[in-house]
This record gives sequence, structure tokens and C-alpha cells, in this order.
Amino acid sequence: MIYEGEISCPVCSGELKYYDHVHRIMKGKEGTKQIIEVRRMQCKKCHKIHRELPDEILPYLHYERDIVVGVYNGWITPETLGFEDYPSETTMSRWHHLHFPPTLL
Ligand SMILES: [Zn+2]
Repeated sequence: MIYEGEISCPVCSGELKYYDHVHRIMKGKEGTKQIIEVRRMQCKKCHKIHRELPDEILPYLHYERDIVVGVYNGWITPETLGFEDYPSETTMSRWHHLHFPPTLL
């Protein structure tokens, strides 16, 4: 997994080239869904495939970055208007235990 704009392989620092792309569903507020395109890059050296994640989504989370950050910082709780059902309370409490790289917050 790499972030958008990265040009070298996180495993061996080899050069990455475009491989193909996949679609991924990103959930927004009130359960809205948006399909985004995620490029897959292949390393020319070790041939590993890396997914390129846009800035708006955090690794392995299917919610918009603002929502995840809001929950993590306590600005959004299950009592916040518009967020009663999405994300679920379980999901929210899980996010509190994550450790995000400071650059993403
Ligand atoms: Zn590599």
C-alpha cells in the first residue's frame, strides 16, 4: 500500500510503474457511497503490486478521511447529528485505538 504520488517501492525502493486499476467503495456521511478508482502500481525490481491510495482515504478504512479524523479526535460521536448510524458505534470505538501517521491527521 502506497500513497498517491509515491514513485518508489516501499519494500525495495525500486521504481514503480502503472499496472492496472481497481474500484473501491468509499462511504460518506449518512451512508452515502462513492466509487473511487485506485491505481495499482508494480515495482520494476521486486515485481510486487502496491495499491495507490488517494489522500482522502486512510489505509484499510472505507470512510472519508474527514469522518475518520473527526471520530479519532472526538469531534464526531454517535450523538453527532448526521452520524447516528454511520459509522456504527463499534466502528467508531475501533478507530480510537488506531494509530495514524501524524501526516494524515
Ligand atoms: Zn520493490
